[in-house]
Amino acid sequence: MNDIFAFGDELGPAKVIHVYEPTLGLRAVLVVDNVARGPSIGGLRVAPDVSTVECFRLARAMTLKNSAAGLAHGGGKSVLYGDPRMPREQKERLIRAFAHALRNEQDYIFGPDMGTDETCMAWVKDEIGRATGLPAAMGGIPLDEIGATGWGLFHCAEVAAPYCGIKLTGARVAIQGYGAVGKHAARFLAQRGAMLVAASDSHGTLRNPRGIDVDKLARLKDDGKTVCDYPDGARLDRDAVIDVECEIWIPAARPDVVREDNVQRLKTRLVLQGANIPFTPGAEKILHDKGVIVIPDFIANAGGVICAAMEYRGATERAAFQAIEEKIRANTEAVLAAVKARNLSPRAAALELATQRVKQAMSYRRWPIF
Ligand code: NAD
Repeated sequence: MNDIFAFGDELGPAKVIHVYEPTLGLRAVLVVDNVARGPSIGGLRVAPDVSTVECFRLARAMTLKNSAAGLAHGGGKSVLYGDPRMPREQKERLIRAFAHALRNEQDYIFGPDMGTDETCMAWVKDEIGRATGLPAAMGGIPLDEIGATGWGLFHCAEVAAPYCGIKLTGARVAIQGYGAVGKHAARFLAQRGAMLVAASDSHGTLRNPRGIDVDKLARLKDDGKTVCDYPDGARLDRDAVIDVECEIWIPAARPDVVREDNVQRLKTRLVLQGANIPFTPGAEKILHDKGVIVIPDFIANAGGVICAAMEYRGATERAAFQAIEEKIRANTEAVLAAVKARNLSPRAAALELATQRVKQAMSYRRWPIF
């Protein structure tokens, strides 16, 4: 990774910009990985422990996600060092100063990520005019509220189910992380007849093999409670969700939650990666060898960025949902068809598809290399 970062590979990174403003205490980095498909879109992450390498890994993930989704955007990401819960005035000052420093960086469009939200994007928009994930009052589509990523995960499940020999009606679903992504995926799947049998959050796991009312659980979470406050079912420790037998398992929380040392605990047929990089490559390989289908993050969870790109062009919420449905269904089908025909892992097939699309775009550049 350090080598790629230092010297670049066939895709990027195109630019790495360090921003430092000692009088404000601003330290931040922008990585624009690849812009062959258009200006890069990617979130601004605020955390005390971010790094340039992390920024590059996330920017590359956006290159793959945006190209797989057929968006007219490349991949980029920015990180700002700091506690995301710092006082609002300080956060606004730092974010505005960072945006201002990048005011001429037309190759990058800001979006929200961990530690930033629609208010932060409104500050960026006000400062330089280039941001997605805006408040509705500024023409934004509230993608977490409407469940853009969950909608994509649902379509991914519909397409993948026959490849794993399962039916969505009656399928048992377990979700790690009942937040913006997890709860909406649960809602759309339940509407199609699937049954939520377990859900977790940072406090614990709730398990009920007879089924959990997805809306009741979401209301409880919205009221600031935890899944363990749900009245009906067993309350287990946080990672017990990994052991729950089900047909569909959805990680929607943190990176690297399933690794070589705990992957054997999963008892499922299909995994839809709602979170970014939730499994290690070794764990994915073990599951592939066992015949479990794992739809990779940059295919399965692209609903959010598709919605953001549509918002940037002034599209309606309805049009955004339609685009998510079409793009995620087509990509899931393409990946699984390649898996079946050539016995590739879903990640290898998805990487091939996304990289090919970036290279095609690069072939039209002034100095084509492919
Ligand atoms: P969120 O903060 O709304 O929800 C995350 C949930 O996970 C919370 O309920 C939290 O309590 C729980 N959680 C945290 N650590 C956990 C752990 N170790 N075990 C179990 N639960 C845990 O966040 P979100 O927007 O739903 O995002 C979830 C993941 O999906 C993140 O990795 C994010 O990067 C990724 N993602 C989000 C979107 C989007 O549209 N929001 C799009 C693509 C990818």
